[in-house]
Amino acid sequence: MTDGPTYGFDTLQIHAGARPDPATGARQTPIYQTTAYVFRDADHAAALFNLQEVGYIYSRLTNPTIAVLQERIATLEGGAGAVCCSSGHAAQIMALFPLMQPGCNVVASTRLYGGTVTQFGQTIKRFGWSATFVDFDDPDAVAAAIDENTRAVFCESIANPGGYVTDIRSIADVTDAAGIPLIVDNTSATPYLCRPFEHGAALIVHSTTKYLTGNGTVMGGCVVDSGTFDWSANDKFPSLSQPEPAYHGLKFHETFGPLAFTFHGIAVGLRDLGMTMNPQAAHYTLMGIETLSLRMQRHVQNAETVAAWLEADPRVDYVTYAGLPSSPYYERAKALYPKGAGGLFTFAVKGGYDACVKLVNSLEIFSHVANLGDARSLVIHAASTTHRQLTAEQQEAAGAGPNVVRVSIGIEDSDDLIRDLDQALSLACS
Ligand SMILES: *Cc1c(COP(=O)(O)O)cnc(C)c1O
Repeated sequence: MTDGPTYGFDTLQIHAGARPDPATGARQTPIYQTTAYVFRDADHAAALFNLQEVGYIYSRLTNPTIAVLQERIATLEGGAGAVCCSSGHAAQIMALFPLMQPGCNVVASTRLYGGTVTQFGQTIKRFGWSATFVDFDDPDAVAAAIDENTRAVFCESIANPGGYVTDIRSIADVTDAAGIPLIVDNTSATPYLCRPFEHGAALIVHSTTKYLTGNGTVMGGCVVDSGTFDWSANDKFPSLSQPEPAYHGLKFHETFGPLAFTFHGIAVGLRDLGMTMNPQAAHYTLMGIETLSLRMQRHVQNAETVAAWLEADPRVDYVTYAGLPSSPYYERAKALYPKGAGGLFTFAVKGGYDACVKLVNSLEIFSHVANLGDARSLVIHAASTTHRQLTAEQQEAAGAGPNVVRVSIGIEDSDDLIRDLDQALSLACS
């Protein structure tokens, strides 16, 4: 199928990037379980290695199953290209790698996935990079945090666990003025609910582990490039604008234009960092994406129903879900995400830390796991698990205080989810 803007999301989530297998006619995308690809002849091999011809060399760099997934996600996000990798965290390193050098920094939101706070706050220091965390409700604070060594600004569209919604446009205005790219982690919203490029983001990262796969089977990540950022407008991005010694002085931006970031991600990022997705994972994620819109509609519908029930329950202190009129982000979410505010939210249990622990121990349908975006409903007490490594201040800033439980609402019957929460709250608060 030829992909065009004339097709709707539901059509593209099934067809984009895929065509019947040229060798066999197989209608479903085959799992190309191969490490290497036979060159037609020595000239063909040389052209591939020189990046003069696009093709397959070795599956650390490219693989036909993964190529379909890359094209599908790029299409759904409205981007120019995408690079899949082994996990969401790998995608974040892959997104920063072409931009950063020792001494450079990223300005990031305080409201991020707990693992990202640790990756940015601690681990990237080993590369000589650093992160400055600021409140993204204050674009002036973001602007003030940007200095001459800032190479990227990073936030989530909908930040779990606190149900926080970023006004992406207001941050993109700041990054546009500074000549640096805005990277949006669109894991929680998915391109069905939010398309960050339409609000001014330059790059998108995903943990495909979550809603895109949607069934809790495989790890994966993806970096999507809008293709619109001008890497040569200033001298901040030499990896993309200056000659690359490993490719005979080729300049990625000059040579590949809007695909510069994507080609660099494959030809240098995957080649040398090796954070490659495997074709089995790409297969499961492609299967998941076929039903993304249907699942997201149900996640949203169930989340709205369950959140409203919890908010009205006397055993619950408060619920933070941008889909509830009581949320300070309700109006922003309605404007930015007219199809709904996603399937994740937190609620505070009267009785604090101990009641939360009892609650997660008592739930029967909800699984107590460190994951989200599964077809099944999940629960976690962030303060004792995912956000355990953070300081008390970081936990509060991320919306993960000791009395708070995060749920990822699945696509089961909402009546059953409510009955399960009801019985568990009774045990927790007795
Ligand atoms: C899970 C998650 C990540 C990390 O992805 P992995 O696939 O677990 O490495 C990053 N950001 C968000 C918002 C996530 O939910």
